[in-house]
Amino acid sequence: MANKPNILIVYTGGTIGMIKDYNTNALKAFDFSQIVEKIPELQQLNCNIETISFDEPMDSSNMNTLYYREIAETIEDNYKKFDGFVILTGSDTMSYISSAISFMLENLQKPIIFTGSQLPIGDLRTDAKENLITSIEIACCQKNNKPIITEVCLYFEYKLYRANRTTKINAEQFEAFTSMNYPPLAESGVNLNFNQYYISKPSAKEKELVVRKELVNGIVILKLFPGITKKVVQSILNIDDLKGIIIETYGAGNAPNELWFLELLKKAISKNIRIVNVTQCSGGSVVQGHYETSLILKEIGVISGRDITTESAVAKLMYLLNENLSLKEFTTYFEKSIRGEISNE
Ligand code: ASP
Repeated sequence: MANKPNILIVYTGGTIGMIKDYNTNALKAFDFSQIVEKIPELQQLNCNIETISFDEPMDSSNMNTLYYREIAETIEDNYKKFDGFVILTGSDTMSYISSAISFMLENLQKPIIFTGSQLPIGDLRTDAKENLITSIEIACCQKNNKPIITEVCLYFEYKLYRANRTTKINAEQFEAFTSMNYPPLAESGVNLNFNQYYISKPSAKEKELVVRKELVNGIVILKLFPGITKKVVQSILNIDDLKGIIIETYGAGNAPNELWFLELLKKAISKNIRIVNVTQCSGGSVVQGHYETSLILKEIGVISGRDITTESAVAKLMYLLNENLSLKEFTTYFEKSIRGEISNE
């Protein structure tokens, strides 16, 4: 990168792109093509900025996997022309979207930074400007002529996280995200400090970007709670065309060891439904076999999600289900890190 880096901002929607109409007090979408004029601070950044916007900017609650594909294809179409990408989405499902994009992009060699905000960019007290400006700066950062970040990240309120490790934890405070099982990759204060040790390193040999566009939607999350009935579990496991289940279990991966429950899981596994065990706790890991109540899960073929987040488990399940793997292969791939989403043992 001898010249100024070229950064593409992709605006999909969400609060960040809103401005307040002070006559009506309502929030309305902002024309992102004018962003450099509207935020003059951006001109001080040492890069060339271009923008692309979804035809109809949307709330992230309405973003299904077809829109994930649109984001992945936008990156693919512009991959050669740009040195880094800043993707703006609503924060509500940003961890789901960015986790999915991390699996969809294989051999990534450039920074993809997701960000958004709690207050619209046009609001006086907005967090949008800092989030956007620092995300662009991070996308521009390089060392020895190579980008420092070559993975999918999420930047919010002074912290850069590996996207597939994040969870939205607050609907009110600016610090809306956390990453309980993996440290931030960078922190922004007076200086921008990168935690080099935790940043994933691209393979030495430059490989072509591969974009995995197919995600399988036929999955469900089943959150256990004390008193859950056979009828409820049975009706979920009997959903037509169900391909995968994430069971949110207790603590280190524990579930009731009542016979009816285990029989239902066994039956689902025999029908080739993949079942993944993810903990309801925000931090820590599933360790199947640590307690008697999880040993049996392992024995009947339940896959351990280890320390993966539910958001990332959804994305990984949707991604791997398209690969036509046997239960054994599926388990091997799920239980190891593909994009840094699970810690090594
Ligand atoms: N509801 C909005 C969304 O997720 C919230 C936000 O933008 O932060 O699209």
